[in-house]
Amino acid sequence: MRYLSPFRMPSKQVAEPTELHPVTPPKKVAKPKTAAERKARVQRIQQVLDEHFPNVTCALNHKSAWQLLAATILSAQCTDERVNKVTPGLFKKYPTISDMANAAQEEVANDIRSTGFFNNKAKSLIGAARKINSDFGGKVPQNMDELLTVPGAARKTANVVLGTAFGIAAGVVVDTHVQRISQRLDLTKNEDPVKIEQDLMKQLPTEKWILFSHQLIHFGRQICIARKPRCGTCPMDSLCYASDKNLAIGVPPRSPAANPS
Ligand code: SF4
Repeated sequence: MRYLSPFRMPSKQVAEPTELHPVTPPKKVAKPKTAAERKARVQRIQQVLDEHFPNVTCALNHKSAWQLLAATILSAQCTDERVNKVTPGLFKKYPTISDMANAAQEEVANDIRSTGFFNNKAKSLIGAARKINSDFGGKVPQNMDELLTVPGAARKTANVVLGTAFGIAAGVVVDTHVQRISQRLDLTKNEDPVKIEQDLMKQLPTEKWILFSHQLIHFGRQICIARKPRCGTCPMDSLCYASDKNLAIGVPPRSPAANPS
């Protein structure tokens, strides 16, 4: 099937955090009590994300499903910015899946050294290329069950590839940002990413599964940051009762460029 990247459309500029909300002391917010209140709150969370992050997409540069799969494998424990510096040279040196399948692991490891865990990642890249050639006719598979047989592709990676490269909503990408913010917004009480994904899939309409995770990732990079959430400038303030909500001050935002991961 033709490679499709539905979210590579021109996107509306994401507003700087300073424009999202004035810096004011964050509100104390009551928890929803009924199922109807919880449902309404989840809908409101989606509305806020749609308002502020309408057309966001995956930050990993790629021109094909294979390149996105490879970039996602490299992104484990590494910033997207770092991966985007490594992949142009990597894809130039190994332009096809077969080129990667026939590469020497030691050499690939050296090519991707700066992304960390380079020996394991090189093994996964070569293993993924060989598997795709041997079992899937040289095409990245377009369903979860087959993708999960590809070395280096667990559910998160498979969801990234299916959602962003093929526009297939098989699940919700749960990375560290999605995990943290889903917990802060009380969309899950779980720690395990697979269980968090299940919780999100139950609460969100299927057509939102792909975009929602991209929105939370951007929201997590710009505003709901791990150690110092910028609650004072957060558009989710009136919906958030997180225990680590910064109730004392509005923390001035940094520029998105200063916070790449
Ligand atoms: S920045 Fe995060 S913790 Fe703070 S109000 Fe917003 S969602 Fe809640």
